[in-house]
Amino acid sequence: MILLYNTLTKKIEEFKPLKNKKVGLYACGPTVYHHAHIGNLRAYLFEDILKRVLIHQGFKVKHIMNITDVGHLTSNGDTGEDKMEKGSRREKKSAWEIAKFYTQSFLKDTANLNILPPDKLPRATDHIKEQINLIKLLEKKGFTYRTADGIYFDTSKLPDYGKLARLRSQDLKAGARVEFGEKKNITDFALWKFSPSGEKRQMEWKSPWGLGFPGWHIECSAMATKYLGQPFDIHAGGIDHIPVHHTNEIAQSEAAFDKSLANVWMHSEFLLISETKMAKSGDNFITLTTLIEKGFSPLAYRYFLLQGHYRKQLNFTWEALEAAQTGLERLYEAARRLPKKLPENKTLPEAFHKHITNDLDLPGGLALIWKAVNEKTIDQKTLLHFDEILGLDIKKNIKEKKAAALPLEIEKLVKQRDTARENKNWDESDRLRQELEQHGYSVIDTKEGTKIIEK
Ligand SMILES: [Zn+2]
Repeated sequence: MILLYNTLTKKIEEFKPLKNKKVGLYACGPTVYHHAHIGNLRAYLFEDILKRVLIHQGFKVKHIMNITDVGHLTSNGDTGEDKMEKGSRREKKSAWEIAKFYTQSFLKDTANLNILPPDKLPRATDHIKEQINLIKLLEKKGFTYRTADGIYFDTSKLPDYGKLARLRSQDLKAGARVEFGEKKNITDFALWKFSPSGEKRQMEWKSPWGLGFPGWHIECSAMATKYLGQPFDIHAGGIDHIPVHHTNEIAQSEAAFDKSLANVWMHSEFLLISETKMAKSGDNFITLTTLIEKGFSPLAYRYFLLQGHYRKQLNFTWEALEAAQTGLERLYEAARRLPKKLPENKTLPEAFHKHITNDLDLPGGLALIWKAVNEKTIDQKTLLHFDEILGLDIKKNIKEKKAAALPLEIEKLVKQRDTARENKNWDESDRLRQELEQHGYSVIDTKEGTKIIEK
């Protein structure tokens, strides 16, 4: 049994998939006009934990994440410029080059954080037809209207608009002093935007309404339904998506198909970055590369994030990251010293599973692991089993250290072999390889010299 907090019902509920042991999971992906900030990465880590827990509990997960490469404007209110065109001007590259470059950057970050890759990464620009079809359907059902700059969704036509965010119409009217142009209601949003006249956009397409590009929200509705059907099981994302993006995804999908978009909606909280501490570093835009350049391991950042529950705000400071790096190294160190296998003890795995299936209580799970490590009641086998959820590469780190802390005799052989190779003394090098192999090591030649791994 897995308990998950559903933003839609505001309750912790037992998760029940629509189909047997299969789970359809949709997560909103990055807008690829810039590097991801470490705060953005928190949401992807939360989704990774969710996915790992589901897999661990025997579910088969189909995980779809979109790549927003068009249509996300600099403001949530459908004004401002397209983020992709903005990135293009900033870097004097085409919008397509920008999208390609920052998609790669994002994938590198998530791989460094040991985030399991989605089953599909559909791009918005590859699904223009699906988006146009969805808008056509909404038009046919009377949910759209036209203004000078685009086709808009009329939120007043949907009685339960805003249910995810619990938006109340009186609050919205009170806030309506802001300029909203030709829109009929403050919450109405663009489905299709026209290319400005006299201006050639890099990314634009023909549509029944005129040359232009899709609004940001429509891509998620179109692609989620295409790959997962409607409704599907879980829709996830950062908490900042609740009031506008996810609210509008729900509105347009439910209006189009008269059924709910997703059963469970899950959101991760913000990462807070302490302004004063950041000022010292002279840079407020912290990426994973920033951390790596400062000597941190990406997995230290993963460990740092695991220490906070996904529904609680987490404060990032350099001190906290240093503590996480120390904590992680201590965990590796402890793992090396644990016995390979103790007599079977079901209590510990049961307690760990209880934490992780209780709305992904990873902080509780980690505390439990540390308690067991200190009491010497956990073995390597159990810890590696738990690491399927933690994703901290514990197995690799147990092995690597072994290779590093070599007996002196072995270290000498490695050095002798490196010297032999430098002198192109291949016979001697081969002889030393055999000797190392007899001592139980596999020998690999690398640019840095001889590398050995215990067999
Ligand atoms: Zn989305």
